[in-house]
Amino acid sequence: MPEITILTMPGLKEVRTPTRTGRRYFVRTFGCQMNEHDSERIAGLLEADGMIRTDTPDDADLIVLNTCTIRENADTKLYGYLGSLKRAKTENPDLKIAVGGCSAQKERDLIQERAGWVDVVFGTHNVHRVVDLLDHADEWGPITEIWDETRSVGDIPSGLPVHRETEHSAWVTVTVGCNNSCTFCIVPIVRGPEISRRPGDIVREIESLAAEGVTEVTLLGQNVNSYGRDLDLNGRSPLFADLLRRVGSVEGIERIRYTSPHPKDFREDVAVAMAETPAVCEQIHFPLQSGSDRILAAMHRGYTGKRFLEKLEMMRSIVPNLAASTDVIVGFPGETEADFAATLEVMEAARFDNAFMFQFSPRPGTPAAEMGDPVPSDTVQERFDRLVELQNGITYEQNRAQVGRVEEVMVEGPSKRDESVVTSRTRGNRIVHISGQWPAGSLLRVRVTRAAPHYLEGELSS
Ligand code: SF4
Repeated sequence: MPEITILTMPGLKEVRTPTRTGRRYFVRTFGCQMNEHDSERIAGLLEADGMIRTDTPDDADLIVLNTCTIRENADTKLYGYLGSLKRAKTENPDLKIAVGGCSAQKERDLIQERAGWVDVVFGTHNVHRVVDLLDHADEWGPITEIWDETRSVGDIPSGLPVHRETEHSAWVTVTVGCNNSCTFCIVPIVRGPEISRRPGDIVREIESLAAEGVTEVTLLGQNVNSYGRDLDLNGRSPLFADLLRRVGSVEGIERIRYTSPHPKDFREDVAVAMAETPAVCEQIHFPLQSGSDRILAAMHRGYTGKRFLEKLEMMRSIVPNLAASTDVIVGFPGETEADFAATLEVMEAARFDNAFMFQFSPRPGTPAAEMGDPVPSDTVQERFDRLVELQNGITYEQNRAQVGRVEEVMVEGPSKRDESVVTSRTRGNRIVHISGQWPAGSLLRVRVTRAAPHYLEGELSS
């Protein structure tokens, strides 16, 4: 059996013989892009150990749940799913079940307490150890391993095998953790303080992705605008703007996106780097959360509605055709009708192309969960509906303004609804459906012919 080499830490190589050759694994991911990317790494490690992916849990020898705890219903879904796996485990005692991600990091022993049939519980910092932990469970029985000691840049595993969901597109982690203290957010608790990867490590990873045929990368961090503050490279901290320029010079990378920036830390140099680096897409996800200064202060966001709009305006004046999206929370504790009206006002002024809108759900362990003064659920629902209606109108209007434009699009694959049509994305991240067949990753020039509320249609442009 061939040996495989896994780089679990910068400079630390582990040589092992695959021990699970031919066995099947199934990974289910809850939550954000960070979790999706961790799942790709988990899949890569399992495949390096000889396992084969299956798309259904029914014929899996191993089921991995990569969990999220951002919203209440994510926890409910997790325990519901774990409940359904109890029977599968009774029928097939050889089935292994592993639970990782943010819920595992936060709830530690609770998962094994509530679902004793789980074999491995691992934290957000232990992804690279998943195969070792499975070995342990094979030999000794269930194990929980959450690593929460102080970490440093050397603790971010680089070079792990990855099973990417698409061949042309990849996520690349630039920071892990977060130094902010948004009162609704559990991330700093479950992912720890912010640590930046060294620019050289990031660029080397992207060069090897480009050599494998990847043409689009999305740089991932909880707050990319504070990237590099914890690094000291010859007496200077690298900036995110520098990183964008360096990644933009990697041959073969046609598109660079990043998520998420933080409005309080976003500075002009990043907008200038976007405008001056051809591969960086004219797109920004700029999370507003609320338009009320009072609620923004209670959320610890570090900006006002006015300052937010000024920054957005600054970006739009520097980056031509910038497409912008946002996140908004409705019904934060103590939100009054006047606070909500301020949110509507900022949304009206910002004219986002798209928005992810959420109803507040208290996360145990966060300051917001202790604030009291909840907004009645029917009021939250009514405000949420008004916000969605406003944003849907703006999105449709922005889409209609695209009709007649010629855009570069990247093909993602056949449309889920109609196989004679491909789904593609503009540099501004708008979805365009085009009749015809092209391989995923193809770059086409298309004329936008029709706007629907949430997508565009186009045809090839000569
Ligand atoms: S910036 Fe705020 S919302 Fe984003 S991860 Fe950090 S604490 Fe959470």
